[in-house]
Amino acid sequence: MTAGTSGQVCEPASATAPAEPTTGERGRRGGRCRFCGTSLRQTFVDLGMSPLCESYVSAERLDAMEPFYPLHVYVCSQCFLVQLGEYVSREEIFTEYAYFSSYSDSWLEHARRYVDAMMSRWALGPHSHVVEVASNDGYLLQYFVARGIPTLGIEPAANVAREAERKGVPTLVQFFGRDTARELLALGHHADLLLGNNVLAQVPDLNDFVAGLKLLLAPRGVITLEFPHLMRLVAENQFDTIYHEHFSYFSLLVAQRVFAAHGLTLFDVEELGTHGGSLRVYARHAEDATKPVTPRVVELARREEEAGLSGWAYYASFAERVRETKRALLEFLIAAKRAGKTIVGYGAPGKGNTLLNYCGIRADFLDYTVDRSPYKQGKFLPGTRIPIHSPERLRETQPDYVLILPWNLKDEILAQLAYVREWGGRFVVPIPTVQVLP
Ligand SMILES: [Zn+2]
Repeated sequence: MTAGTSGQVCEPASATAPAEPTTGERGRRGGRCRFCGTSLRQTFVDLGMSPLCESYVSAERLDAMEPFYPLHVYVCSQCFLVQLGEYVSREEIFTEYAYFSSYSDSWLEHARRYVDAMMSRWALGPHSHVVEVASNDGYLLQYFVARGIPTLGIEPAANVAREAERKGVPTLVQFFGRDTARELLALGHHADLLLGNNVLAQVPDLNDFVAGLKLLLAPRGVITLEFPHLMRLVAENQFDTIYHEHFSYFSLLVAQRVFAAHGLTLFDVEELGTHGGSLRVYARHAEDATKPVTPRVVELARREEEAGLSGWAYYASFAERVRETKRALLEFLIAAKRAGKTIVGYGAPGKGNTLLNYCGIRADFLDYTVDRSPYKQGKFLPGTRIPIHSPERLRETQPDYVLILPWNLKDEILAQLAYVREWGGRFVVPIPTVQVLP
């Protein structure tokens, strides 16, 4: 796999490459922008060294070392793509992946509603072909299968793909890009609906990925992609959604630029509540005039301009807000421990691992965390080595505080854990600022 861009595409094509960063500080830094190739020199936020956030540690490995990588995010001075330097290869991250989408009830519901909406909006039927990139355990395509729509999932993590096959979702175990798209074309595949949820942010070779989408899309087909919205990340201080799996962080403006460079037009956009605030963008071939650009695209682009996303000042203030959040969370935890309180975690999501590693919160603050996924139970959080138990543990130990790590699922979790209040336990949410819920 090659780092950065492949150089075939894209404005700003010449990328009037500024001189390489001086090697005086810490050797070679962020590398080049994965969209336009400009040298990355402006820091968005530096979260220090962190392990891969989905690499849960087994009991047998507890005495072994684990690799840590820089979590240093840059913003490109040329195209404003916010991005992580490529410190880890995608093979290291995604070939054995611990994230099974189907363990979240609200995410399943989200997928089911999406399928309903697409069925009617695009009049899909037995002759349509739906392809999902990063189809995970078949959490979404299963609903198309149930309606008799031919589907294909593409998922690089073999352990997760096996689960999809068990659900009756045909799944190709592979990374997606130009090569995979060409293979599928040769087999007669064309996608009428081509979707990817939380994958655009996770591809190291962005241009190869989007070029692959362009190839596989039928002439009148529709692409939908969901990804966390950078404007929400900044507005709500969601720095814990930064981890090694997430190479890029998109605004609508940058996404438009990237897709346009590959002959694709974003013609509609929805703002969703998922993952702390995501965009669902709809793309088509630039030459497909049957789908006009909606006012929603124009309006959101205008709001992003007004918020300052096309200027450096917008990005420059983020890092200090992150540092202040760390100080406030540690202040709360230290005060609670000094008062003799017990604190545990809820959930073992990737974002929790960024938060805990960045803040230096280990079993000295959180006795343990719990997670509904049996895959994670009995293991330990990467880096912090906090043990992961099943949720029953809460009832047995009756902690004073439960720190909700997947704060994006807060409402669902509060409903599931209502019984914690029976013994006077309280909930704490760390983001956007530490908050003890009444
Ligand atoms: Zn760039």
